[in-house]
Amino acid sequence: MFTAPSRVFSQLARSFRTDVRGLATRPPQPGPGQFAKRPLPPPPPPSSSPSGIRAFLRYSPWSREFPGSWRTRALLQSTVYAVGIVLATNYVDEVWFPKEQGYASPREVRVAIEKLRAAFPEENQVSTNSDELELYGSSDNSYHPASPHSVIVRPQSTEDVVKIVKIAIECRMPMVVYSGATSLEGHFSGISTGSICIDMAGMDKILEINETDSDLVCQSGAKWEDINQTLKEKGIPLFFPLDPGPGATIGGMVGTGCSGTNAVRYGTAKAEWFLNLTVVLPNGEVIKTRRRARKSAAGFDTTKLFIGAEGTLGIVTEATLRLAPLLPTKVAMAQFPNIEKAVDAVQDVLNSAYGNHIQCVELLDDKMMSAINQAGLVSRPYPVSDTLFFKIQGDDPAIKLASKTISSIVKKHGSSKFEFASTDKEADELWMNRKYALMSTMGAFPGMRCWTTDVCVPVSRLPQLVYETKQDLEEAGFISTIVGHVGDGNFHALILFKDNDDRELAKVDDAVHRLVRRALALDGTCTGEHGVGIGKKEFLVEELGEGTVELMKSIKKAVDPLNLCNPGKLYPDNDKKSGSH
Ligand SMILES: Cc1cc2nc3c(=O)[nH]c(=O)nc-3n(C[C@H](O)[C@H](O)[C@H](O)COP(=O)(O)OP(=O)(O)OC[C@H]3O[C@@H](n4cnc5c(N)ncnc54)[C@H](O)[C@@H]3O)c2cc1C
Repeated sequence: MFTAPSRVFSQLARSFRTDVRGLATRPPQPGPGQFAKRPLPPPPPPSSSPSGIRAFLRYSPWSREFPGSWRTRALLQSTVYAVGIVLATNYVDEVWFPKEQGYASPREVRVAIEKLRAAFPEENQVSTNSDELELYGSSDNSYHPASPHSVIVRPQSTEDVVKIVKIAIECRMPMVVYSGATSLEGHFSGISTGSICIDMAGMDKILEINETDSDLVCQSGAKWEDINQTLKEKGIPLFFPLDPGPGATIGGMVGTGCSGTNAVRYGTAKAEWFLNLTVVLPNGEVIKTRRRARKSAAGFDTTKLFIGAEGTLGIVTEATLRLAPLLPTKVAMAQFPNIEKAVDAVQDVLNSAYGNHIQCVELLDDKMMSAINQAGLVSRPYPVSDTLFFKIQGDDPAIKLASKTISSIVKKHGSSKFEFASTDKEADELWMNRKYALMSTMGAFPGMRCWTTDVCVPVSRLPQLVYETKQDLEEAGFISTIVGHVGDGNFHALILFKDNDDRELAKVDDAVHRLVRRALALDGTCTGEHGVGIGKKEFLVEELGEGTVELMKSIKKAVDPLNLCNPGKLYPDNDKKSGSH
């Protein structure tokens, strides 16, 4: 028979209530063979002495019943507060500012600073002055992202650098070497999670001059200009021919794999001008890459590993430099109706029998010549047109013969004016104007900022590159000047823009990207001499191919597995996150 569900439920509920009531009221009956249980004794009366947490609360330094003096109470209370603050700070550090890529947390950064202070107690050897940290972590010549460093340390010796590296390893602190600070692609900018800036200014001594062997040993903070000035003052007819920016140091020059105006005759940092380097590796070990002998076939060239490594594989503390004989030079200037004619003339000159007498050949476009005049750094203004500056070397008869050849070649290519500086002073002034082209450009347009680019192509492609770039920059509405080590196919566009104008800065960035892509399309490179830093790392795969970039990254991982040496520079990001490798 069918029973309505509501009735079934009410019957079930009634029988359940009966069972529960029965359980509550009836004691369990012993079964057959079982004994009845004895009733439990009554519970003991509550004790008057509290225990555990209650005892703690009763006698804690916050309770009225605290048995000690007010001094003990204050001492205990402040100890508890101090421990609480430390624990809370650590918690906030770890939760709100998690360690990035295994680097020191803010608390560990503070520990590292304390360790550095203890290791370098002398005044000013360790600085955390915020203005200095900002200054050392960024550059007026770079527009790439930068962060201030956490601390600056000033070593005096290789042993000091080892101490710094060991503290950096212990605290997982990235290290950035800062030398002449003339690099242009954000090379020495600070790391956002915290970084130790190693300022090499105190390591600028010349240690040995071996005149008969034409070499010199120095600390890496020595400036190339000071080395040449010292040789001159000592009457030693030798010089170090790499000549990058004024103020650059040997360590920085190794770092960027620099060159300069002399490269057409002497080659770049990647030639054998650095015979031996003393390097503190990222694990704190000190190595020498070679001995002082002129040449060596002992294994592959570990010196070269550090040239152009931008401080990512270790810290160079000393270097043995090869020196070249100092030859008499004469400076000449030739002016042309356009850049193509100027570059064609250069190729003919370099390929002539007197090509070896050309120490430098520099191109300055008409806008650069006008900027030099406007900046007011010259005693008499130059005619404004595309210009080549030559430095010719050799003894008197050789210079005379070379000059005759050059003069006839430049005339053939339409030069209206070819003249020598009449005095040494004039020659120095002429050359100074070339060296200070950046300052002249900025001096001619006060209040504006300047982005300096650097690309290099096979020399025969240079006219096309310069022509298209000038046109592009003009169409984009920029004021710009051009200067180049034309004998190597290397040129710089100096693009001016208004200060504090982010939109214009973004337009310059785009123009630089277009210029680099144009150079790559002409079988060139994204950087002829300034290096990669932050600014050019995105072009490396396109230029070198994935295999080559992976090889570079594998070397970095093997030498610096903790990625402590200048992270975020040189190697293209895997995940667009700075510092990754
Ligand atoms: C006006 C001007 C003109 C320039 N002209 C040229 C030119 O003609 N040719 C040219 O090549 N460059 C030129 N430059 C760029 C610059 O001068 C070079 O890149 C130079 O080699 C940088 O040397 P630095 O001592 O200033 O190095 P920094 O700028 O201090 O450092 C450069 C890089 O090297 C690393 N580094 C520095 N010291 C060490 C060390 N001891 N061990 C390991 N790594 C280290 C740094 O961490 C950084 O990554 C010019 C710059 C300016 C401002």
